[in-house]
Amino acid sequence: MLEGFVHVGLPSRIVLGAGALDRVPDEVDLLGIGIGKVLLIATKAVRGDADLLEVALGDRFAGRIDEVRQHVPAERAEAARAKAIEVGAHGIVAIGGGSAIGLAKAIALTSGLPIIAVPTTYAGSEMTPVWGQTTDGDKATGTDPIVLPKTVVYDPLLSHRLPLKVTTASVANALAHCVEALWTPKADPITEVTAVEGARALREGLLVVLGNRSDLEARSNLLYGACLAGSALASAGTGLHHKLCHLLGGAYNLPHAETHAAVLPQVTRLNAPAVPRAKARLEAALETDDLATGLFDLFVKSGVPTSLRELGLTEQQAVEAARKFAASKPDNPVPVDEEILTEVLIRAWAGERPEGVVR
Ligand code: NAD
Repeated sequence: MLEGFVHVGLPSRIVLGAGALDRVPDEVDLLGIGIGKVLLIATKAVRGDADLLEVALGDRFAGRIDEVRQHVPAERAEAARAKAIEVGAHGIVAIGGGSAIGLAKAIALTSGLPIIAVPTTYAGSEMTPVWGQTTDGDKATGTDPIVLPKTVVYDPLLSHRLPLKVTTASVANALAHCVEALWTPKADPITEVTAVEGARALREGLLVVLGNRSDLEARSNLLYGACLAGSALASAGTGLHHKLCHLLGGAYNLPHAETHAAVLPQVTRLNAPAVPRAKARLEAALETDDLATGLFDLFVKSGVPTSLRELGLTEQQAVEAARKFAASKPDNPVPVDEEILTEVLIRAWAGERPEGVVR
């Protein structure tokens, strides 16, 4: 029998297609942002596309920010808010990865300005009401519907030259949203369908781009998968896996997307047995008979680092992180203590294939 559930769908307008970048000016008009009122935020890696967008925005354009950093440092957020006021912005167009969209969210959080997000990676932030900001190495995150982008424009032409190294890590980040959506306290059957379909599309796209980085159909599949992954994250929220990754990223300055690839298979080994139905569905979508090892093998095949050691963490730091995290008494479908968390993080540190069951 189907158990009762609560599902909250979030309102965003989604436009996906090759050449969709050309539609951004119309999307600006649809939101009624107005002449001379658009603040453009652009990741440096897509400067050329941002230049074209600036021209296409024409007299709607008010100003531009090109300085974007991972995890939204507080001083960057303050500078961006000041810039939005200085140019009299009524709306933001953010083009780039999760960091550019994160900066736009920092402005929206205090001003309420609407965001049009044009993602060029697969982080999924564009689909969530989650914001983040880092002060002295401490990353604060929160949820506020005001930061959810009103419109998301996915154009595979923007990511078809995304380096393979960035692509594979970013796909691991998106897969983490899909997998964790199965076991958070807010998991529900509608989110599960979204997450399973997202994971299927991500794997399919990934396997093709490994052979041909510029395959447009595969890049479309990856954006579609990222959209579903972000949407699953938005409704299911975060659990043990994302919280561990945030702690590691904030305290030891590890790269966000790559950290997911090292930690996810180990947390999956711990948690997947607690959600057998969803686990079986995800295994079918990923064409594997074991979710944890299936993810690990997919990451190895993609060439994304599967150990925290490769990212620069020391074994002692892994032990320290487990101790710190255990002290926060995390809520998890499988009860965890310092010993279990140490096992998970030492395995993630060493990059061990996640076989067998957790002690
Ligand atoms: P990112 O935006 O820093 O981009 C990763 C790298 O890809 C950068 O070096 C960037 O310059 C490069 N890049 C981006 N687009 C490119 C392109 N088209 N061609 C070539 N290079 C390109 O990082 P990310 O992995 O996209 O996002 C990670 C950030 O997003 C983290 O701060 C994370 O916390 C945040 N995030 C937030 C949410 C949320 O819901 N709030 C969800 C996921 C991630």
